[in-house]
Amino acid sequence: MEDCIFCKIINNEIPSYKIYEDDDVLAFLDISQVTKGHTLVIPKKHAKNLYEIASEDLIKVHQVVQELTCELTEKFNAQGVNIINNNHEAAGQTVFHYHVHIIPRYDENDQLTLKFGSDSKIDPQLVFNEFNK
Ligand code: AMP
Ligand code: ZN
Repeated sequence: MEDCIFCKIINNEIPSYKIYEDDDVLAFLDISQVTKGHTLVIPKKHAKNLYEIASEDLIKVHQVVQELTCELTEKFNAQGVNIINNNHEAAGQTVFHYHVHIIPRYDENDQLTLKFGSDSKIDPQLVFNEFNK
């Protein structure tokens, strides 16, 4: 897609640190490293987000996510990993070409903060009922 920055990376129109490539999937280092080894894995076929990506591409991307997670963990001696995928602006997506963040973790005080709060006003029973309406 013409104006897509990740399509430009695929087509070598802008530089990147590619660490994996096959016919369908590309992985490169995020320009802004949250932690050492922060990597983005993308399908070569442009899809905006999880809602739009073809399931066969989704599977291929996530197979590479697993392989690279193991490789990055071993090479950089990470203690864990967070796999993050943002969809739509409300969820923090800024580049609208499907991508998965692999963020190796070294300790709790590194540059990634993830906080799962709890909204006591939301009753899971009511959510369940609404889902099954
Ligand atoms: P998201 O907020 O999930 O859409 O993440 C987009 C990510 O793309 C951010 O972490 C950016 O740092 C990263 N990014 C943007 N431009 C580039 C680029 N040219 N090369 C590598 N990573 C990039
Ligand atoms: Zn694209």
